[in-house]
Amino acid sequence: MSVVSSVCCYCGTGCGVLIEADAGVVTGVAGDPAHPANRGRLCTKGATLHLAAAAASGRARHPEFRRDRTSVRARAGWADALDHIAEKFRSVVAEHGPDAVAFYVSGQLTTEAYYVFNKLARGLVGTNNIDTNSRLCMSSAVAGYKATLGVDAPPGCYDDIEAAGTLFIAGSNTAYAHPILFRRIEAARRARPDLKLVVVDPRRTDTAAEADLHLAILPGTDVALFHAMLNVMLWEDRVDRAYIDAHTEGWTALRDLVRDYTPEKAAAICGVPAADIVTAARWFARGPTLSLYCQGLNQSTCGVDKNAALINLHLATAQIGKPGAAPLSLTGQPNAMGGREVGGMANLFSAHRELDNPEHRAEVARLWGVDALPGQPGKTAIEMFDAVRRGEIRALWIACTNPAQSLPDQARVREALAAAELVVLQDAYADTETAGFADVLLPAAAWGETDGTMTNSERRIARVRAAVPPPGEARADWEIVTDFARRLDPERGVRLFPYACAEDVFDEHRETTRGRDLDITGLSYARLDAGPQHWPFAEGAVEGRVRLYADGVYPTGSGRARFHAAPYRPVAEAIDARFPLHLNTGRLRDAWHGMSRTGRVARLFAHADAPRLAMHPRDLALRRLASGELVRVKSRRGEVVVEVEASEAVRPGQCFLPMHWGARFMSGLGANALTLPAFDAVSKQPELKHAAVQVARADLP
Ligand code: SF4
Repeated sequence: MSVVSSVCCYCGTGCGVLIEADAGVVTGVAGDPAHPANRGRLCTKGATLHLAAAAASGRARHPEFRRDRTSVRARAGWADALDHIAEKFRSVVAEHGPDAVAFYVSGQLTTEAYYVFNKLARGLVGTNNIDTNSRLCMSSAVAGYKATLGVDAPPGCYDDIEAAGTLFIAGSNTAYAHPILFRRIEAARRARPDLKLVVVDPRRTDTAAEADLHLAILPGTDVALFHAMLNVMLWEDRVDRAYIDAHTEGWTALRDLVRDYTPEKAAAICGVPAADIVTAARWFARGPTLSLYCQGLNQSTCGVDKNAALINLHLATAQIGKPGAAPLSLTGQPNAMGGREVGGMANLFSAHRELDNPEHRAEVARLWGVDALPGQPGKTAIEMFDAVRRGEIRALWIACTNPAQSLPDQARVREALAAAELVVLQDAYADTETAGFADVLLPAAAWGETDGTMTNSERRIARVRAAVPPPGEARADWEIVTDFARRLDPERGVRLFPYACAEDVFDEHRETTRGRDLDITGLSYARLDAGPQHWPFAEGAVEGRVRLYADGVYPTGSGRARFHAAPYRPVAEAIDARFPLHLNTGRLRDAWHGMSRTGRVARLFAHADAPRLAMHPRDLALRRLASGELVRVKSRRGEVVVEVEASEAVRPGQCFLPMHWGARFMSGLGANALTLPAFDAVSKQPELKHAAVQVARADLP
């Protein structure tokens, strides 16, 4: 039996795991006591990783492709499958240009795989059409950091949980989505009963139930709440004027804006008592305050404003750059952060460089050894699938994600997938909703079968390692891309993709970070073998920088952090007489994403064996409904039939549907049949957290 140290492949907490393997099969998993994120603990999902890994059903084992849509995919060799894609790509690019090709990748890829996909798209094909499913979970956090602090760098760390005086959780059911962090929060509160917990969430989640103060705001009203908290801080002179004067800009505009957001006015907008807003403001200003936030802020048409309005509070009270004080966004996927580092999003560029900066493009072109890189912005997730639907993008390569389950407005997404000339799916699983649309299936190695690195929510880079070989002919993601690049353009492909192992890719990526804010030139696989490290970790450093901005100097050009003064805006789709209920979608404790892994572990279904729509008992009574009945949930885009359950965790007028079940598991096209594709104008992140719906008994027309 062998034991290999790696990282959990689910949430962005990034827990260290020890994988036990025997005769090429993963046989067990344990929390790594040496890993600083979890110190040996695992949640229910992490503790059953071995069961998901050992489940043989659904795995993609061999390449398959079909020459046209009238035939079915047939098993093929790697050479034939990749040559087929290369031939199609060359023909599409020759006829329609490089922007007729697009890549839709995933926050579950290793940083190395992300890096080679990025280089393939921009450096070899010549398009910025590379985006990721992380667009759906944290692009508003990226834009929020850049708008206020200058770069996309979470300034705090997990150890701030134990150092804080107030924990301010907004738009995150941490108890379910990042369970090990929540265990740390519970333990810290047991050790220090004066550690306050404030939770902002429309639902009374398990996280909110633990709070000293739960602000059950109406959906999408976070900006009004945060502005009102700043109004209280101003009125009670709880802001840090010396810090504001020395380290920030834009204060006057923000101060003038928030004067209008009295607690009473915000109470009317947000649906919470004004006195609770005052209490939250006082606890926040007293500090040190660590904010933890996730999809409730990010998945919104004003997601950047919500992120920035929260960061405003940290800057105004100097709650940043010191132990226990930081705005710390949580990433939903294990390597959403690593993807950001390599520029694996349509509007980003390698190592936090800017796509619209010609000098940055020239730097990366020089590092990669290409003449030039494209400057026009690529299509982001929603835009990308719309462009496929319109026929502007003709060849789409999807890696390690399931857009036919996870993107909003599924009818539109499926129309796009059906309209594409070529859909390539590179995935470990062959039975996802998206696999049904794939012309080419490329079997990828899964968790426990591949080498590389990942970065968790606190900027900590850790090694992931293979414990067993992948099944059949499946290969590591970085290796598939490297092979393809050499076939697409034999001369340039071989030169630009010279990698023999994941470490070769890491070493090249490391060089692109030299002199940047996320400089990791002091890191190597050998250094990471001694334990995970925070970035930046420049050459010569003995350790990574745990907290940023301790000196109050920000990478904004002026050196000052920028206040963001944007007024509150309501959700994109208002409720009305026809669609009178607010629908919220989200996560359950023991399911993850579209359940391609957790759906294979029977033990995890003990928590929730089927999707259920949670509604307040009053709303059920109004409709003469009872728990357990089937209801039809309709939005302007589609409908699903699902069991309903009474829940006082949702307020009257609202309902909640888990997002994990797609068309494979429930009638209609899953929860995202209902959601809308409206997105934030800056971050392009869709408003998955709110849609207007109606609910009636399923047997009614
Ligand atoms: Fe895995 Fe997240 Fe659970 Fe840790 S908290 S074991 S990273 S799912």
